[in-house]
Amino acid sequence: MTQAQASADRISAALARIAPSQTTAMTDRATAMRAEGRDIVSLSVGEPDFATPAHVVEAVKDALDQGATKYTPVGGTAAMKRAAALHFTRDLGIAATPADVTVSAGGKQAIFHALLATIDPGDEVLIPAPWWVSYPEIARFAGANVVPLPTTAADGFRISAEQLANAITPATRWLLLNSPGNPTGAVYTADDLRALADVLDRHARIMVMSDDIYAPLRYGDTPHATLAALRPDLADRILTVSGVSKSHAMTGFRIGVATGPGWLIRAMERLQSHSSGNPCSISQAGAVAAFEGPQDFLSDWRAIFRARRDRVVEAINAIPGLSTPVPDGAFYCFVDAAPLIGEGCEDDNALALHMLEHGVAVVAASAFGGAHCGIQGFRVSFAADDDSLTEALTRMERAVAAL
Ligand code: PLP
Repeated sequence: MTQAQASADRISAALARIAPSQTTAMTDRATAMRAEGRDIVSLSVGEPDFATPAHVVEAVKDALDQGATKYTPVGGTAAMKRAAALHFTRDLGIAATPADVTVSAGGKQAIFHALLATIDPGDEVLIPAPWWVSYPEIARFAGANVVPLPTTAADGFRISAEQLANAITPATRWLLLNSPGNPTGAVYTADDLRALADVLDRHARIMVMSDDIYAPLRYGDTPHATLAALRPDLADRILTVSGVSKSHAMTGFRIGVATGPGWLIRAMERLQSHSSGNPCSISQAGAVAAFEGPQDFLSDWRAIFRARRDRVVEAINAIPGLSTPVPDGAFYCFVDAAPLIGEGCEDDNALALHMLEHGVAVVAASAFGGAHCGIQGFRVSFAADDDSLTEALTRMERAVAAL
């Protein structure tokens, strides 16, 4: 290689700070192995196995027939913003108007743009761990220092007010909250959030991102609790992110919604105007139908997920060396496999690869910041049909026995 080639073949310092998504990597690996003829059951991906509701699909076909194939306003059509505001008000209890919302290519992009639009080098972002894989990477890409707030199964994988208070420094810019949470299924109660808000009252410069994308997928009886609804007086410092990907089985549509203070919504749209531009026109039509159409299927889906959860938790806890608490929301179990580490697998990445060799794809806990919490293990998604779950659990048991 010539010197000129060597110098051109270089990524930016910002990109060098971040790793590729390990959940995507594991899913891609499982897909590639399948393409080679290997029989792999994937419990690595975070998407419902249900079909997208028919009325959503119809709305997209209608939109195509009506020629909705051109640019739309950068932050979403008027109809889309109305539907998003309806969702925030009706489903999350946040009094949002269309002017307070923006729409992006998935919840992921909303988070990406919000952090990129507000972080300066050296700012600190507090992230409860275990965390969703993309949070620390996006924060680091934006130039922030990530401050993990470790949690454990014993505390329900929830941070305490005291922990938050102790982590805050003059450099703290954001606190990221995710309830129900990926990868643990942790659900914050209204009391938990009120206690955190009491701390935030004393630190007016800190923004909070509340990622509520799994809000409809809760298995307890208590209503969904979210900071902007509980403390409207703090709403000018809270960005609430939601979407249709998880709740309405629309991961491929790439629609996410966010509501927050006007300056931030405008800043996100300014950035979006130079990145992806508007969210996909026909996907917006689908998302309008998702938010405005019937929601009753959600209780059926919840019941199915709940039954799967109970089954998966019981089966995993019956495998020697594996243990998982019962997740209160989302569709993941965060499995502790500490007793198996050192028994033929040097770390949880090796364990996940060992599982893959036995035909089941899971994602190592280390991808979710498990190490910050002293957890070695893996995440299992139970958003898979019953037969796949049965087969995956059998293979998991076999894989553990083979160690
Ligand atoms: N937030 C959390 C906690 C997630 O788990 C995900 C997806 O895995 C997202 C946001 C992003 O969802 P979307 O597919 O809408 O970008």
